[in-house]
Amino acid sequence: SNIPKIVILGAGYGGILTAQRLQKELNYNEADVTLVNRHDYHYITTHLHMPAAGTDTIDHARVPISKLIDEFKIDLVKSAVKDIRPHEKKVILEDGTLSYDILVVSLGGEPETFGIPGMKDHAMTIRSINSVRLIREHIEYQFACYKNDSIASRLRFVVGGAGFSGVEFVSELADRLPLLCKEFDVDPEKVELYNVEAAPTPLPGFDKELVEYAMDVLKNKGIILRIGVPIKECFAGGVIIGDGERIEASTVVWTGGIRGNKLIENAGFEVTRGRVKVDEYLRAPGYDHIYIIGDSSLVLNKEGRPYPPTAQIAMQQGVNCAKNIALSIRGKQLSKFTFSHKGTVASLGKGEAIAIVNGKKWKGWKAAQLKKAVDIRYLYVIGGIPLVLQKGRFF
Ligand code: FAD
Ligand code: NAD
Repeated sequence: SNIPKIVILGAGYGGILTAQRLQKELNYNEADVTLVNRHDYHYITTHLHMPAAGTDTIDHARVPISKLIDEFKIDLVKSAVKDIRPHEKKVILEDGTLSYDILVVSLGGEPETFGIPGMKDHAMTIRSINSVRLIREHIEYQFACYKNDSIASRLRFVVGGAGFSGVEFVSELADRLPLLCKEFDVDPEKVELYNVEAAPTPLPGFDKELVEYAMDVLKNKGIILRIGVPIKECFAGGVIIGDGERIEASTVVWTGGIRGNKLIENAGFEVTRGRVKVDEYLRAPGYDHIYIIGDSSLVLNKEGRPYPPTAQIAMQQGVNCAKNIALSIRGKQLSKFTFSHKGTVASLGKGEAIAIVNGKKWKGWKAAQLKKAVDIRYLYVIGGIPLVLQKGRFF
């Protein structure tokens, strides 16, 4: 048939929004849409620090994709992408091949380890349901082991990097550790939780007053902040920081940054830290039928600096991308992408958060309520009231 084949790779924030908008926008028989994802569920990456620390369940952070899209309109393929071949207009999956007329790459990013020796092999990362389940189980196992071997490093925990992911996770873990101490009859005095940050301040570039506030909250939770000290190496039993100081810790979680998905670089696109600088319509340079959105794309602001990779921009890109695909099928002029920054809201554990929304600053309990509202709004956007009732965290 002459119906254009649209293939969307990845059902994260960018991919789900693209699929949902296409499903709404396209008329019957206007295009074939296929959505490929490694798992049959969508995960809510912005919640992952909670199941990672064990303060919330895994199931609160994921939704079956079949609940989010209409399978009469979109083909769902559960498979892992192995290779993208732009010249052949093909995608190689672990168990087959797909050809496309229009491709959307929304595969998310992957941890950036900057070549730090041992980091890839010995640190855990917060990227997926499977990766956070590992962190949670690993931490509980250290407590169980400690009760049998009394090795002190079992009770030492290092979070590498104090960006938003690191700060959200370390706060959450600080809330969980006392509960684990109770459960495993461990003296809380024996537990040490480090957050190591290379830059002169945590949350580099964020509002100074709110960073100060966050640091106070973290210190009050007993977190040992090592700021302005880079992690130089990671080994099986800990890390080496600054001028060679060793921290012996059985648990190292790396939140030091992310880069674009390796598959994109492998496909031959020109990348900076794994990301493709897309054109004003979100297309890969030189390919008018390939869109790249989310953590693997690079969009510059008015000052020529890249926007940080967030769920917020990935969602807006998804909406714009679906719109442009519909326009291109109908032979119309595409619409330029512009990012509208709504603000930043970051959790600092139970009842604590910091936020800037529409230029107004919030902290403490009110900011924590705001965080919940943002989370619930997302559930509403992708799944309506039923999903809010099923997965929402109201307390
Ligand atoms: P993702 O959401 O990562 O989705 C990628 C999808 O592709 C996944 O479904 C994955 O399974 C699939 N996939 C990957 N590789 C393959 C493959 N080879 N084959 C098949 N499928 C594949 N941003 C905010 O704006 N606000 C926040 O509050 C916020 N909080 C965060 C908290 C944490 C703990 C973390 C880690 C991040 C947070 N972020 C937040 C950042 C945000 O999560 C990301 O920017 C966002 O997830 C990017 O969306 P994406 O669509 O590019 O990729
Ligand atoms: P990031 O790049 O924002 O932060 C990484 C941090 O690790 C930086 O502060 C960096 O200085 C530090 N670092 C790098 N190398 C180091 C080393 N060798 N030793 C010690 N520290 C080192 O990464 P992230 O926190 O994972 O965030 C990724 C993206 O997701 C960002 O765009 C962020 O805004 C977004 N995000 C947003 C939220 C939110 O809005 N609530 C939450 C999480 C993530």
